[in-house]
Amino acid sequence: MKNKKITRKISQGMYVLTTNGGGCVVDAVSQISSGEAPLISVAVMNQNYTNELLKSHDKFALSVLGMDVDPEIIKTFGLQSMRDVNKFENMKVLEIEGIPVIENSLGYMVLEKVDSIMNDTHTLFIGKLVEADVFTDGEAMTYGYYQDHKEELLKIKTENGKTAWVCTICGYVYYGEELPEDFVCPICGVSRELFKKRL
Ligand code: FE
Repeated sequence: MKNKKITRKISQGMYVLTTNGGGCVVDAVSQISSGEAPLISVAVMNQNYTNELLKSHDKFALSVLGMDVDPEIIKTFGLQSMRDVNKFENMKVLEIEGIPVIENSLGYMVLEKVDSIMNDTHTLFIGKLVEADVFTDGEAMTYGYYQDHKEELLKIKTENGKTAWVCTICGYVYYGEELPEDFVCPICGVSRELFKKRL
């Protein structure tokens, strides 16, 4: 492949996907039909805890992140797992149709799961829109902008004196002189080639 970066030109946004008991940051969201109750699809990594939850839950929500998003929201939902921390602990959420949505967002969509398609790495969940609202008319953050400004946005800090490897996709930090041979990012699933060494 000559340059896969062209895929970054596919216009994608930044969202927090939530369901009962968990949530994560997603970017691969698209509207696949229109009308009163449009269908919307979202891709979620198979190894994510949220993916596990979605197998047994019928409803989920997407909160749309704006350009002025509090970086803590991305850090909390994007760089951690509910397996380790309670992401909702310090987060302002509203309960809509029984699903927590992010208060500090542009608005939300609540979806009822109608289908799912699983491949090697991700599952595409398709939902029918059952409730939605606009909180504020700000500009949505694009995934491309996030990728280009991630370092300053998240101010990823590594501990002094320790060799760190930072995932260039999600910002996860691994400490150690070398990355293990078969290492994959526990948060976003990319391989070790996409980690950058920081001393
Ligand atoms: Fe990662």
